Amino acid sequence: MADIAELYERLKKEKAELLGKLQQLRARGQPLPERREGSPFGKREEEADEAFELEKRLALEKKLRDALAEIEHALQKCEAGTYGLCDSCGQPIGQARLEALPQANLCLRCKVRQASETKGAR
Ligand SMILES: [Zn+2]
Repeated sequence: MADIAELYERLKKEKAELLGKLQQLRARGQPLPERREGSPFGKREEEADEAFELEKRLALEKKLRDALAEIEHALQKCEAGTYGLCDSCGQPIGQARLEALPQANLCLRCKVRQASETKGAR
């Protein structure tokens, strides 16, 4: 039997970790725009580096936000009593999958289908 209370605790811990990482990421990102003003002869390479860093940071931030949204959704399902059920078909997600990925909101079959549909749409 799935121990939902334990998975709930894992989700909450992971959420706190993600929030910490997001905060760190933002704190590190703050001084970037200011610094460029201070160098009137900004080198192109430096600017390219900064743009690259910014892009990397934004991509990472998006990844963290997506992961956070998934976890929050799973936590809401815990509270609503629907945790462990697939968002798409309503069938149980399966304990092995939940233990590997407590924030899973889709059963494996729907996940695979969604992934192939997304790929097809692009
Ligand atoms: Zn499903």
